[in-house]
Amino acid sequence: MATMTSVAGPKIKTKLPGPNAQRVLQGDTKYISPSYTRSYPLVAKRGRGVVIEDVDGNEFFDFSSGIAVVSTGHCHPEVVAAIQKQAAELIHMSGTDFYYENLVTLGERLAKAAPMSGPIKVYYGNSGAEAVEAATKLARYHTQRQGIIAFYGSFHGRTMGALSLTASKVQQKRRFLPLIPGVTHVPFPYLYRRPQSMSEQEYIRECVQFIEEKVFKMTMPPEECAAIIIEPIQGEGGYVPAPAEFLQELRRICDKHGILLIADEVQCGSGRSGKWWAIQHSGVEPDIITIAKGIASGMPLGVTMSRASIMDWVPGSHASTFGGNPVCIEAALATMNVLEREGIQNAETVGKHILHRIGDWVETHPMVGEVRGMGLMIGVEIVKDKHSKAQTPDDRDRIVDLAFERGLLYLGAGASSIRIAPPLIVTKEQADIALDVLEECITIVEKEQKK
Ligand code: PLP
Repeated sequence: MATMTSVAGPKIKTKLPGPNAQRVLQGDTKYISPSYTRSYPLVAKRGRGVVIEDVDGNEFFDFSSGIAVVSTGHCHPEVVAAIQKQAAELIHMSGTDFYYENLVTLGERLAKAAPMSGPIKVYYGNSGAEAVEAATKLARYHTQRQGIIAFYGSFHGRTMGALSLTASKVQQKRRFLPLIPGVTHVPFPYLYRRPQSMSEQEYIRECVQFIEEKVFKMTMPPEECAAIIIEPIQGEGGYVPAPAEFLQELRRICDKHGILLIADEVQCGSGRSGKWWAIQHSGVEPDIITIAKGIASGMPLGVTMSRASIMDWVPGSHASTFGGNPVCIEAALATMNVLEREGIQNAETVGKHILHRIGDWVETHPMVGEVRGMGLMIGVEIVKDKHSKAQTPDDRDRIVDLAFERGLLYLGAGASSIRIAPPLIVTKEQADIALDVLEECITIVEKEQKK
């Protein structure tokens, strides 16, 4: 594979953080917003494939993909070449006010890959939150209804509209209330955390009934609901897939009441699940899909795509100066080439390999409550013990820190899970190295717990 690195494994040469990293960290503390949530002091300098080199020459395996973004790996040569070529020709011309060809080229390409049939239209923004803002504004515009249903555990972004839909961590909302009205949160079928007395099927049914029997009968008339927005695999919420039957039920509810189904695929989309879009695993077609992160390998691009009949807003309704920037578009086109040629298939193959390798951690490791996921979006839930299933964020964070010290970049997700989200070009050999390190770190923390 073109992007395969020759590096056998991570190489840590200095104490972490090293001297150059410490200098950068001091400047960061002085000048950069303290609202960011860094887990450990990785100061990146350059990247290639799955490898990130820091400012002190230490080499790490990036199993976070820069938070699920570098789908083709760091600085994939085809993506770099596309960016360089376009940057020398036209950097910006605002698709809001003028025309240029690659805006259409990518629109056509995305339409062909869309998870819904029929004519498609595409709106461009710059981020996941913007894609979500556009999706919900479009849903309100098209339906002329106000209500939106979102899920507990969901993360849709931090702008005021997207934040209104988010229900992940209360810190994200503290001192920002009130947000936009009309949003109702409902339970997400997080199967591992269902009530003990219920089977998976009963729990899924209960979550469906909550919408139909409680929300629609007590708080929101269904004919005033514009959209239901769901991440087919919750990302920040802990890498939790929505069961296919649940997504099918949402489709039924939406069809019954003229509600639009929005799939937020900002994190789980762009091939990460082993199909172009995670919702395709359920056979459900959404009405609107939001895309960002992995679609342009790290260049800022957000996409809101819907059936053409839904995107009926008139000029001036919604736009963005930078949305659909020509350089970002070329990065997306090159990314789609790599993903279609090898990345999506590789995500499925290596993802299965990982699940096969670590599936038995639930039996062999007292602190591993569940291993779950699709493709290269895999969550490992850390618990105090199997019986109580008590979440233990401190232990999870310690595992992530220990992995960093050993040259592996993992990130937490949800209250107590670790996300395994390498670039989609990762090899099985690289995955094995990363999993060995992760297992070693889990074992260390388990031993510490026994003392
Ligand atoms: N939607 C989902 C599912 C996400 O995971 C994220 C970011 O993590 C967003 C939206 C927001 O994206 P951004 O940070 O690019 O605004």
